[in-house]
Amino acid sequence: MTPSRESELLAEGIRAAKQGMQSHARELLTQVLAMNVGSELAWLWMSSVLDTPAHRRDCLIRVLKINPNNEIAQRGLATLQSQLAVEPPPVAPPTPAAPVVISDPVTCPFCQAQTDATQQDCVACGEHVILSCPTCDSPVHLWETTRCPCGEGLRHYIFFPDGIDHEGLGQRYAMAERWEAAARQWDRALHDGSHISMLHRKLAQAYDKIGKTAEAQYHRQVATT
Ligand SMILES: [Zn+2]
Ligand SMILES: [Zn+2]
Repeated sequence: MTPSRESELLAEGIRAAKQGMQSHARELLTQVLAMNVGSELAWLWMSSVLDTPAHRRDCLIRVLKINPNNEIAQRGLATLQSQLAVEPPPVAPPTPAAPVVISDPVTCPFCQAQTDATQQDCVACGEHVILSCPTCDSPVHLWETTRCPCGEGLRHYIFFPDGIDHEGLGQRYAMAERWEAAARQWDRALHDGSHISMLHRKLAQAYDKIGKTAEAQYHRQVATT
């Protein structure tokens, strides 16, 4: 690839981003980064077309590694850090401004607060309280048991009151070829900040399996750089 091809793709990617064509921009910018992982501009624009604040932050951190004086990235990162500090984890249900109405109260086995038996995540602490069984896909209600009637046990991945081993549980879903469920766990583990580059590789694999190519490319790129 010649430098002009790279700058062509970059210009096209920036144009797409400006026009609000986010997924097209993501694809083009991913191609630019595959050619030149040190492209400050590609990382900067990539940060504007990714969906989650954590992913946008990763991009801006890369910009600043390449050029610590990039003021746009410095400002963007400061804004994102403050957003990330107040935002709930991306997998948590949206928190309504009004007090949460709990239709079917149960006690969260992690934080002991009242949560709703119809919600996958605890309304108070955000931890998963309903998991699908890796073997038979039945819901496992963690406030009652960690074992599915089919015999599958999840106790190995669940620590009361600390939380779930999201990385290990993701691996269990992956073994069962349940890639959507695996991605949900690994995305959560990534958000919790453990084993970042290995998780990006795993997420790339999971997103490949569920046909989300742009997400897969993004995670593969981030994992290898
Ligand atoms: Zn809880
Ligand atoms: Zn089961």
